[in-house]
Amino acid sequence: RAQLSDSLFIINGFAREYFTKTLFNTEEGQNIGLSYFEERGFTKETVEKFQLGYCLNTRDAFAKTAISKGYNLEYLQKLGLVTMRYEQPADNYRGRVIFPIHNQSGKILGFGARILGKADKAPKYINSPENEIYYKSRVLYGTYFARHSIDKLDECLLVEGYTDVISLHQAGVENVVASSGTSLTQDQLRLIRKYTNNLTILYDGDAAGVKAALRGLDMAVEEGLNVKVVLIPDKEDPDSYVQKIGADAFRKFIADNKQDFVLFKLQASLLDAGNDLNKKSKLVSEIAETISKINKTEGFTRQQDYIRQSAEILKIDEEGMTQLVNKFIR
Ligand code: ATP
Ligand code: MN
Ligand code: MN
Ligand code: MN
Repeated sequence: RAQLSDSLFIINGFAREYFTKTLFNTEEGQNIGLSYFEERGFTKETVEKFQLGYCLNTRDAFAKTAISKGYNLEYLQKLGLVTMRYEQPADNYRGRVIFPIHNQSGKILGFGARILGKADKAPKYINSPENEIYYKSRVLYGTYFARHSIDKLDECLLVEGYTDVISLHQAGVENVVASSGTSLTQDQLRLIRKYTNNLTILYDGDAAGVKAALRGLDMAVEEGLNVKVVLIPDKEDPDSYVQKIGADAFRKFIADNKQDFVLFKLQASLLDAGNDLNKKSKLVSEIAETISKINKTEGFTRQQDYIRQSAEILKIDEEGMTQLVNKFIR
């Protein structure tokens, strides 16, 4: 007996193909969608590999086709492909370029749909709503394309957006997945840990990017992941930056700018605390707690390294730091 999830996957598969055909085989798709991807520096091969698409800027071209083919309207709505407008089915992604989100075997879980040009009136991206096959907190964009490379290199790069994943692939960096703008969840960490213990975060060089990089990472450290951070220069993101400086320079930039997450966080918080002694003593205690957790997962030597380095950054003595750390170890 067919399950609901089978039907949903089938409809998403149909929609994916429809949007790809629209991109390549219609005049509007070519003139608007394909030129948009070209302007962003995506090659035809890249567009094909990621199965990118375009939804015509009409009221209901997709909805009409899907319904005439017998796809269930209720399911089309559940998947976020179709919405009711004035009591009639209408396309939800009209006039947008489409980024399909694949599961680990290549089936389509959902879509991200980007507005063309500036997003003043409407949201920049519309993403599929959660439903029986799409749980945002369990999905990382790009896993289907990245898993072999992550496995081989024993490292997973994490970026914010769809276009970051795509541009990095095009530049030959394939061990990369995206959190799609949210902070990491336990389920996403578990997904990464299936392939590697080494996580490197490449977040946008804006304040929001840094904040997002800090959130969720304590959890990653506690889970035993070895976490590194690379801050992309201000106003850039991995996509814009790799397109700007080129593949080789970008790979070198990553290698040269990888920082240990724990020490990175310490430096950022210290800067934030300024001359506030309360904040500073709270910070010392927090970092001692973090270091105490590392012991379990990464062993004594690594913990000693952290004690030495953080004491140096905080300008306190090593012995005092050791005592603080030991307080947190039962
Ligand atoms: P682009 O380069 O196309 O502008 P981006 O990936 O750089 O896209 P960011 O603003 O950095 O866009 O956001 C990172 C990610 O967060 C996006 O790829 C998308 O998954 C998600 N996102 C951004 N804006 C929205 C939004 N308005 N609604 C839902 N998700 C969003
Ligand atoms: Mn951003
Ligand atoms: Mn971008
Ligand atoms: Mn971005």
